[in-house]
Amino acid sequence: MVEEYPRNLRELESNFGTEEACRAYLGRLRWPDGFHCPRCGGGQAWPVRAVLLECAACGCQTSVTAGTIFQDTRTPLAVWCRAMWWVTTQKNGASALGLQRVLGLKKYETAWTMLHKLRRAMVRPGRDLLTGRVEVDESYIGGEEEGLPGRLNLKKALVVVAAQEDGPGIGRIRMRQIIDASAGSLIPFIKDSVQPGSTIHSDGWLGYAPLDRNGYLHEVTFLKGKKKAPSELLPRVHRVISLLKRWLLGTHQGAVSRKHLDYYLDEFTFRFNRRRSKNRGKLFFRLAQQAVAVEPAPYDRIVHPTSAKANLQFVGVT
Ligand SMILES: [Zn+2]
Repeated sequence: MVEEYPRNLRELESNFGTEEACRAYLGRLRWPDGFHCPRCGGGQAWPVRAVLLECAACGCQTSVTAGTIFQDTRTPLAVWCRAMWWVTTQKNGASALGLQRVLGLKKYETAWTMLHKLRRAMVRPGRDLLTGRVEVDESYIGGEEEGLPGRLNLKKALVVVAAQEDGPGIGRIRMRQIIDASAGSLIPFIKDSVQPGSTIHSDGWLGYAPLDRNGYLHEVTFLKGKKKAPSELLPRVHRVISLLKRWLLGTHQGAVSRKHLDYYLDEFTFRFNRRRSKNRGKLFFRLAQQAVAVEPAPYDRIVHPTSAKANLQFVGVT
């Protein structure tokens, strides 16, 4: 489909100002080849009242937002579109408080929930895997951070980062919170993040040893006997970790809890991987497109993420 998005605030306001316009836009993203009935696959539907679509073949009723992150929302879609614009056009993203202010929302919780729903649409597991040469290492974040002002209001959490090499620079990244640095935590993350056949560059930690058996080329740089710090051996990963900490301390004032950390990692990844995109409207497009493609996350599951993600860490090791 043609990539359709607002190029500036004026276009956002004129083209995304009404419920009908926003609903039609999300419909074009969700069904780029025309309506598909979620039950029977039928390609024809009649509008019923303002927002429902009734399948001409099986009679089931659905809507553009059913089965997406916008399902059951009481927030107008035009406000959602403004939120997506704000989140994608601000260089460092938005905190819930910032979003609440800019959208003029009465409740902080509304802004907080919207942001969390949007974060769930930012990184889609299994999509856009890293390739080529990829540095992987783990690092603790939380508590006092050496060399950074402020304190993360977060007990130490272990985060594993994969950073694609791009000459001396960094290409795309992926990251995940893990419970420990065992192979059982590390290998599933790598399988979810990096294309088999790629080269993984790690330190000599045993948790990475099964990589060879899992279809990766493995290059090890041993720390032992070297005077260099780990940050010099795997500089890209450690640069990413340092930027992540700054972002958590800056935009989010360090107020990120461990149970929600995964979703902040996804937002950081989304931003980082598109940091060179000159057209911020394209980020809006990508986010909206993914928002109609991921399952809805009810409020309860956002407040108490029962580690649907964490579970991924324990499957798939061979
Ligand atoms: Zn149908």
